[in-house]
Amino acid sequence: MTKYVYDFSEGNKDMKDLLGGKGANLAEMTNMGLPVPPGFTITTEACLTFLAQGGAPPEMLEEAGEHLRGLQDAMGKTLGDPDDPLLVSVRSGAKFSMPGMMDTVLNLGLNDRSVEGLAKQTDGDVRFARDAYRRFIQMFGKIVMDVPADAFEHALDEAKAAKGPNAQDTDLDADDLSALIERFRAIYREQTTEDFPQEPMEQLRLAIAAVFGSWNGRRAIDYRRQNKISDDLGTALNIVAMVFGNRGEDSGTGVAFTRDPSTGEKVPYGDYLENAQGEDVVAGIRNTRRIAELERIDPDSYRGLMDVMATLEGHYRDMCDIEFTIEKGKLWILQTRIGKRTALAEWVMAYDMLDEGLIDEGEALLRVDADRLEELFKRRVKADGERPIAKGLNASPGAATGAVVFTADDAQERANAGDKVVLVRRETTPDDYHGMIASQGILTSAGGTNSHAAVVARGEGIPAVCGADAIKLDPAAKTFTANGTTVREGEIVTIDGFTGNVYVGELPLEESVLEKARSGDEEARGEKIWKAFERLMGVADARRRLRVRANADTPDQSSNARDRGAEGIGLCRTEHMFLGEERVGAVRQMIFAETEAEEQRAYDALLPLQREDFVGIFRAMDGLPVTVRLLDPPLHEFLPNQVELAVGVARAEERGEGEVRLRDERVPLDEARVILGKVDQLHEANPMLGLRGVRLGIVKPGLYAMQVRAICEAAARVKQEGGDPKVEIMIPLVATKPELEQMRAELEPVAAEVLRDEGVQLDHLEWGTMIELPRATVTSGEIAEAAEFFSFGTNDLTQTAFGFSRDDIGKFVGMYEERKLVPANPFVTIDQPGVGRLMRIAVEEGRAANADLHVGICGEHGGDPASVAFCHHLGLDYVSCSPFRVETARLAAGQAAVGAAESAST
Ligand code: PEP
Ligand code: MG
Repeated sequence: MTKYVYDFSEGNKDMKDLLGGKGANLAEMTNMGLPVPPGFTITTEACLTFLAQGGAPPEMLEEAGEHLRGLQDAMGKTLGDPDDPLLVSVRSGAKFSMPGMMDTVLNLGLNDRSVEGLAKQTDGDVRFARDAYRRFIQMFGKIVMDVPADAFEHALDEAKAAKGPNAQDTDLDADDLSALIERFRAIYREQTTEDFPQEPMEQLRLAIAAVFGSWNGRRAIDYRRQNKISDDLGTALNIVAMVFGNRGEDSGTGVAFTRDPSTGEKVPYGDYLENAQGEDVVAGIRNTRRIAELERIDPDSYRGLMDVMATLEGHYRDMCDIEFTIEKGKLWILQTRIGKRTALAEWVMAYDMLDEGLIDEGEALLRVDADRLEELFKRRVKADGERPIAKGLNASPGAATGAVVFTADDAQERANAGDKVVLVRRETTPDDYHGMIASQGILTSAGGTNSHAAVVARGEGIPAVCGADAIKLDPAAKTFTANGTTVREGEIVTIDGFTGNVYVGELPLEESVLEKARSGDEEARGEKIWKAFERLMGVADARRRLRVRANADTPDQSSNARDRGAEGIGLCRTEHMFLGEERVGAVRQMIFAETEAEEQRAYDALLPLQREDFVGIFRAMDGLPVTVRLLDPPLHEFLPNQVELAVGVARAEERGEGEVRLRDERVPLDEARVILGKVDQLHEANPMLGLRGVRLGIVKPGLYAMQVRAICEAAARVKQEGGDPKVEIMIPLVATKPELEQMRAELEPVAAEVLRDEGVQLDHLEWGTMIELPRATVTSGEIAEAAEFFSFGTNDLTQTAFGFSRDDIGKFVGMYEERKLVPANPFVTIDQPGVGRLMRIAVEEGRAANADLHVGICGEHGGDPASVAFCHHLGLDYVSCSPFRVETARLAAGQAAVGAAESAST
């Protein structure tokens, strides 16, 4: 027979699935001998059965009845007894604490007769007994029967007002309360069309039904959606003998944390309210006192509380939060759990607890959340209740404030003039890069967390909010509107890349201690958070098996990544090397060339520029591997936008002008017509699936040859200077082995020739491919025969595996997550059953065919902690991520290794 009810003495803290968090911890504390009022827990299984059957199973009610009798025996009192009644509280408690669900009903068992018994029990304290009864009617009505809270509160306010202008609830005497009880019962009747139930078992039955039913209440469902909690858990329910914090000045109630949850400091923290019940603290009816003041008010209880807190910390080996009540000088503990804390506090606490010997290094490492590490480095918005005008995806963390601009050129121009700007666009393209890096922040109305804007922003450490679709742009008028607010060019906005919120005006921002310390500020280096960071990152580095590289395209990004601990570059995207004023001409010449000679002249112009770029990168990453990806994007990205150009040409023709004005240049009309013809010719319906990646290398053989030449000449130069360049050349978007073979056959002789001419030998020159197409993953055994390394391009692999456009997913991914159609945004966290499975196939079959193959990942997932853990389990050699996520990846890799070691040893 299923056991539906557990006495507190029968459970323990590891039974959260069955007893819920509250029940499991009450059981644990009971068995530790702490002063917990007696009680029992009805299980989550009972809840699920209740919900499935639409009512309580009779065996459950019977079992609960037995436990109730046991409780009555233990307390020597009976529920509803007119002389000496037992009162209980009914408290819900799911596995995870869940605001939004029915919470607590106190004083259950009171009725018109037992209220007299309660008075007798408390030495004739009629006022207290009546106050308890009015609270019970109020709570029961509100929580169990959904009577609007206002109705009772209004009546209470009236009663207080009748006593005098500043009267508090404590000023109501026994007669006032008697009248108030009558009033409350009338309200109850009006609202529910029933009399307030007098029979305690009926009260209990209704309360149980309300708790279990609240699992499927709207607010609870919403909360679970938001917090990704399964609907299948159900809630447990605790029935606990009442103790009273409202029995006079020697009584009270409070909440306490064993350490400060916002700073992590080792000082008790919390609030205490004299002569009150738990809900009074939450409702804020009177000002609470700080927990330290309890020492003066009631030294014995304070000492008792400190002892309990120390015992709990020692037992749970973590910071606990506690609800307690003092009844006439006797301390009772009503609840404990591992306390929630800020990102800052979790580092400080883990560091201190490691120092105190409470936890070991591995555990300290697992105590911090890699997902929240970036937060500690970034400036933050102090919103102070300010209302956002729009909300988008939190695409790149940090806060930025600045004047709105709508084009990359304006951004650059105003930034050069010393202004702080926020670039607002529908979406961005590689063309906008110069304006993006000149901006404090980037805001787009379309595009997802892997859109161009998001990827570049994260790479550059620029805060970004993407896909804020409430924002409607009017580029011609240089304004945007969002939810009724119009913002013009030059007006100040603030964006919060942590939350995705967009505000009008300049909100104050704060610089982080960690960033100051990292850049050498001595005072910041003295702070505990920096010491904690250094110590725990040391542990992560010592434990991790995965190497961590960075995605970096410039010497600056490379040095930044190296400062953050990157052990090489896993992806140097070369597309930016085709942008910039001095390169536009040569790039166009390359695209337009009619003859081989013309094309070659273009390459000759580009080669020295690219070589200089590579020299800078190899110097910055001296001694560490640098994976350079040959050009990947479709060529039209290097030409003006088709629509803008067509409009420009048409306008010039109509007005009889000889020049077409484009975003960042003026082009003679004849030339613009030619460019437009080429743009039309290059136009593709699906450019992401078109002439890009290795296909470009095949169609334009001179292009990759030029890049390889530039790479090898740069490496030779750095080697000749005494450096140690380690070069890995990567071919993107390969689908078949012959594609890779053909490229290597064409390009290896180019490299050999350069090195021979330069008289240089490189110790490390490898050729490999990105794995970013499903076909490549399932034929990886073949491809590995032609590759020395694989690097998973999980951005494209996710795009092609799902058939989701990475640039457009912002429109529906939110809804997909909300409706649980995907467990998480697959462009953020690797979709393990699908994309992850393809990766596993590629690793296994690739390594089986080529035992020396080394394998990494360079998609955005390389900086996502859950994906890093997956890569650890997959046995990859490294992850590569944007420079600003290098520390996160190092931490996550350390945690994955420690976590795996721990689960193997249990
Ligand atoms: C990828 O597809 O994962 C990748 C790293 O390449 P890109 O984002 O440049 O397409
Ligand atoms: Mg790609």
